Amino acid sequence: MRHLLSTLDLDADAATELLDTAAKLKATLLGREVRKLPTLRGRTVVTMFYESSTRTRVSFEVAGKWMSADVINVSAGGSSVGKGESLRDTALTLAAAGADCVVVRHPASGAAQRLAHWLSDNGTAVVNAGDGMHEHPTQALLDAATLRERLGELAGRRVGIVGDVLHSRVARSNVHLLRTLGAEVVLVAPPTLLPAGVDDWNVPVSYELDPELPALDAVMMLRVQAERMHGGFFPSAREYSIAYGLNEARLRMLPEHAVVLHPGPMLRGMEIASAVADSPRAAITQQVSNGVHVRMAVLYHLLAAGAEETRTKETV
Ligand code: ASP
Repeated sequence: MRHLLSTLDLDADAATELLDTAAKLKATLLGREVRKLPTLRGRTVVTMFYESSTRTRVSFEVAGKWMSADVINVSAGGSSVGKGESLRDTALTLAAAGADCVVVRHPASGAAQRLAHWLSDNGTAVVNAGDGMHEHPTQALLDAATLRERLGELAGRRVGIVGDVLHSRVARSNVHLLRTLGAEVVLVAPPTLLPAGVDDWNVPVSYELDPELPALDAVMMLRVQAERMHGGFFPSAREYSIAYGLNEARLRMLPEHAVVLHPGPMLRGMEIASAVADSPRAAITQQVSNGVHVRMAVLYHLLAAGAEETRTKETV
């Protein structure tokens, strides 16, 4: 693996290998007082976030640090981006300064692919940490890791992805990955929050949540992404919540074993009720901790696997 830009880049074997590595790393670190492996000693990871983030940015930083990489955070506000430097020049500067891996979040769909193209001669790996409305591959991997822990293998499981599919890179990455891993996906959203070419995704689509719930093994609630909306996509927050919000009555319509996921940040009372978010059926904090192990696995496969075969057998 040279870069991680899209879940479409992963076949079932590659995705399973990443998830297995994440699970091994998690088991290795469990209960340790000092969570530090030497795996990426001497490697430099730069996170470059042009959009706000809490979970993704922190977990990439923790992941790198737990594997002894030097992690440097660059934000658009505090860098020369604020002086008008282009994404390309910023990226080439970071590579010239010694970055082995650039983790990028950007509001433009396709930004991570462009970066990987520009850095192709430098040997710098690129990880897409969310590009516009396009993809967020490590989110889908951490969701799959969480579902594997809660449900076992994903083949044959049915996952509902509910809400603002149109603006959601989480939905796109999950549709690809879940299907690659053999799960069935159903999208549930009002017609205004579905992308124009959704028929080409070849997944069932429903405009109504209630009839779908009893057949689901997992339900993934999406945030309503107001920052990407220009215009009215639904009549009011209250009406959206009544039609598509996961409340306690709807939680009871799910099978007993079904898991509730949310990528965060949550809008409590909008797409998810507080009582549901805080119930044991929800795996939201488990998703966040799995995010660290999945990102460790991604950095390991990009920066260490193969080159350090002998050493990693001892440390992973
Ligand atoms: N944190 C996720 C993302 O960056 C989901 C969201 O923002 O709603 O795409």
